[in-house]
Amino acid sequence: MPSLDPESIRNDFPILAKLVYLDNAATSLSPRQVVEAQVTAEYHYRANVGRGIHRLSRMATHQYQDARETVRQFLGGGQGTLVFTKNTTEATNIVAQGLNWKKTDRITTVLQDHHSNLLPWYRLKNEGRVAGIDTVPLNDGVIESSDIEACITPETRLVAVGHASNVFGTIAPVKAIADVCRDHDVALLIDGAQTAPHLHIDLEEIGCDFFCFSGHKMLGPMGTGGLWISDAVSEENIPRPLFAGGGMVDCVEGTAFTPVTGPGRYEAGTPNVIGAVGLAAAVRYLSRLGMENVGRHSAALARRMLSGLSEIPGVRVYTPADAPLIGTVSFTVDGVHPHEVAYFLDEAAGIMVRSGEHCCQPLMHALGLNGGTVRASAYCYNTEDDIDMLIATTEEIAGMVR
Ligand code: PMP
Repeated sequence: MPSLDPESIRNDFPILAKLVYLDNAATSLSPRQVVEAQVTAEYHYRANVGRGIHRLSRMATHQYQDARETVRQFLGGGQGTLVFTKNTTEATNIVAQGLNWKKTDRITTVLQDHHSNLLPWYRLKNEGRVAGIDTVPLNDGVIESSDIEACITPETRLVAVGHASNVFGTIAPVKAIADVCRDHDVALLIDGAQTAPHLHIDLEEIGCDFFCFSGHKMLGPMGTGGLWISDAVSEENIPRPLFAGGGMVDCVEGTAFTPVTGPGRYEAGTPNVIGAVGLAAAVRYLSRLGMENVGRHSAALARRMLSGLSEIPGVRVYTPADAPLIGTVSFTVDGVHPHEVAYFLDEAAGIMVRSGEHCCQPLMHALGLNGGTVRASAYCYNTEDDIDMLIATTEEIAGMVR
């Protein structure tokens, strides 16, 4: 079975010589190849796209289109439109604000999800644009398709579900959820921010309507991400463009205008061409590693964290033991605030982890955690040594308060 060689991968990430980076669920590092692709673009074809016919503009346009195609194929999204956005949050809001909602519509959400996949929907309810939100309550951190089905009503128009929890690291069965949605004639939006970096995604096989992701969490540049819209989305669920302006319009007559067809209709204004080129380089890098290998590696490191941390007296682990996982584990240390744990891990051992509520206040309230959790999240360049160092330093912290 082919696997990853994190030691050789690490050569492409110079900063890893100085520290242990376990905050990948927030944002990943970029390899040299991604940085260099952007530098090349800056030096050799920095120009606006789709607007000029001079050589640089044509080169930039070609590279931008090529980047779009590379990312679309990477996600198995051949039968759909890939819109470049600045992140998952923007992608989700394009759908939330773009659909022509009826006041009777209802939306299904999941309590453990990220604010970016809750607040855009809550806002519609708060503004009276939809009738209500039905939320899958907290169970053990593992979402089943039956949990989603239980929240679907005859008025439900859309289900918005996180593909993986950024707190627990658990993976939702999105194919089964898509089947449920299809049975009930409900649209499905998947927040793939945490899975696009780790899993082989095949959007056509999943059968969702919308998929949102962040390039910066998958080795790509900051300020990159995307929204995939299936060709199979029903006519009434095609979002209206959120922004109007240059680049998104086909023809203007008086005050009337017609948006172009295709992804450009959602990309008004000058796009982040250099970022898109960098994201395509990231996707090529991940493809070379093989997403099955990446996913297996991340999950194995998560299991190592899980078993090591669970054995430390005074440490509580929130990630369920038997669930399918990406590389993320959440925990607390009795008597020590999560921010103090994170600070100590950095000061004592140069380990970068995230602490706090992780943009998941509803989940933290349900768990009764005021200060949130400590979250360690591994990726393709992390090693077993990184994890062992995390476990040993956490043991030291827990020992200090016993
Ligand atoms: N959804 C999930 C599950 C996330 O983990 C994140 C990032 N923490 C987001 C959405 C938002 O991503 P971004 O900040 O890139 O928009």
